[in-house]
Amino acid sequence: MDKMVTSREELTRRLAAFEEKCRRRGLRVTNQRREIFKTVASSRQHPSAEAVFLAVRQKMPRVSLDTVYRTLASLEKMDLLIRVGTPEKERFDGDLRPHAHFICTNCAEVYDIFPPEVSYENPTTLACGKVKYVHVQFKGICKRCQS
Ligand SMILES: [Zn+2]
Ligand SMILES: [Zn+2]
Repeated sequence: MDKMVTSREELTRRLAAFEEKCRRRGLRVTNQRREIFKTVASSRQHPSAEAVFLAVRQKMPRVSLDTVYRTLASLEKMDLLIRVGTPEKERFDGDLRPHAHFICTNCAEVYDIFPPEVSYENPTTLACGKVKYVHVQFKGICKRCQS
């Protein structure tokens, strides 16, 4: 399996969740909206809005960067993806399974860290409220930048 690509089963699950949430909100599943979501959901590289725009434009030459920004923001509001990275370099993640991120403070690359590489409790209910997803960030200098 390609480490940078979401598994086929997981992608199918995410696309079903996307369609289900759109339907519940009365939002049309347009080809453009679906393609933007799919681009984020099928990647494990936490693409930026610009990277999503460049990928989607290959299939849909008329898409605008502004549309990509707005669509990503709406998908985030629908809890279909999360914003990761830094304010200067925002990235998007379609993987809502509990996992941590390692963010290189030098190049802003975002790396996934899954248990058991890192272990933490996965509570669904805390005293202060119900947990939607666990989002932990590790910041440091990645191996690529160290050498
Ligand atoms: Zn780095
Ligand atoms: Zn991630």
